[in-house]
Amino acid sequence: MQQLWERVLAELELSLSRANFTTWFKQTAITSFADGCIVISVPNAFTQTWLKKKYHTDILKTLRQMISEEVREIVYKIELLPSGGLAVSSRPAPQKEIALENTQREPIPAVSSGPLEECGLNQKYTFNNFVVGKNNELAYAACRAIAQKLGRVYNPLFIYGGVGLGKTHLLQAIGQQVIAEDSQKRVRYLTCEQFTNDFIQMVRSGRIKEFKDNYRTADLLLIDDIQFITGKEGTQEEFFHTFNALHQMNKQIVLTSDRPPKAIPALEHRLLSRFEWGMIADIALPDLETRTAILQAKCEEMSLSLSQEILTYIATEIQHNVRELEGALNRLVAFHQLDGSAPTLESAKNILSSLTSRATRRSLTPKQVIAIVTNFYDITIENVLGASRKKKLVVPRQIIMYLLREEGQCSYPTIGQELGGRDHTTAIHAYEKISRELTFNERLRQEVMLIREKLYVS
Ligand code: ADP
Ligand code: MG
Repeated sequence: MQQLWERVLAELELSLSRANFTTWFKQTAITSFADGCIVISVPNAFTQTWLKKKYHTDILKTLRQMISEEVREIVYKIELLPSGGLAVSSRPAPQKEIALENTQREPIPAVSSGPLEECGLNQKYTFNNFVVGKNNELAYAACRAIAQKLGRVYNPLFIYGGVGLGKTHLLQAIGQQVIAEDSQKRVRYLTCEQFTNDFIQMVRSGRIKEFKDNYRTADLLLIDDIQFITGKEGTQEEFFHTFNALHQMNKQIVLTSDRPPKAIPALEHRLLSRFEWGMIADIALPDLETRTAILQAKCEEMSLSLSQEILTYIATEIQHNVRELEGALNRLVAFHQLDGSAPTLESAKNILSSLTSRATRRSLTPKQVIAIVTNFYDITIENVLGASRKKKLVVPRQIIMYLLREEGQCSYPTIGQELGGRDHTTAIHAYEKISRELTFNERLRQEVMLIREKLYVS
């Protein structure tokens, strides 16, 4: 049961922010599953309320997907587990659920956090369990070099790549390594979103000095998904000063993004130029060999043995996202833990087909494609449908037509129609031009890849 719950949590973690996740799912466990009713034990009434009120739908959905469609009911039961962290109680669950109202005044426990958690680090992500392949070797080497010589090799290091390809993993691994070697080092990991929120809150409460002191005393500042700084002028300004202060003192800065600095829309020029000061390393899609190696490593971590045939099958089916590779593996394992049978190629196929059909079931409408592409290039729908021949508009317009053909299987006349009533020959021309250009234009290839991800992930 414990392993099963851990896999459910791994799946849930994907849809929640990490901070929420650790707060609410610490010390929870599945204690029983019978007649469609799952009992989840929780450490206190506070957690019970939150899980019930905020996460119930997510939990139910995930349980149904991963364990069985038969799951109909979830009871959140307050129960103290023997040790901290995830654990399963071996005691039979108490008979009645403790009424929420009676226990609501229980004090809120301090969330115990170790030194790693205080820095925003998750011990799951280390260099040791990162699989190096051709797609990420440069980024990996740069991260290792930095962890050894903070502030003295590349500063900043800017890592970019598509969703689920290991950016956060590497960023976190740097932090862990530095702390493992010298626990006095001040490491701060946070997402761009957290940085922004913190900044806004501190400004509001007049504690800007505290904010500055907090960030400017770091030895290592790790900011994840910096592309979200786009359009936030106040935050850009503050980040600029933080950056300068740290850089001047030779303190290390590492940033990640889903795209290269130049492709971040509405980024102030002075920030752009700083992002390009040090080293820029990209992570590309892993090849089949690397994907298989990653699956193998995950299996070893879970002391699980799967035949080469199954591993190759999964690695062939899932190509764009390491997180999805892990997800497929988790599902397979969860599925078989229920009845104790061993995974087979057949069952892997079944489970994966439900996964892939889920991802593509929602067929894309032209409106969605247009919205995602214009959003990506930070242009308006009106302009892209309009008549202007500015390059800034022409390329996205052609990409939309290309994607409508490739992903949406639209006819050329329909494509022309959707693009503000253009002729079908324009659509043909656009499709052919982008197809050709994709064979040699690396930047365009990256962009189209990122857009595709957005089409299917969002
Ligand atoms: P990103 O931040 O780029 O979206 P993550 O770092 O969150 O991606 O990676 C997604 C998942 O895939 C994580 O669980 C991570 O541990 C795993 N992962 C990605 N790349 C690798 C790799 N090369 N070796 C091992 N695990 C990986
Ligand atoms: Mg990430």
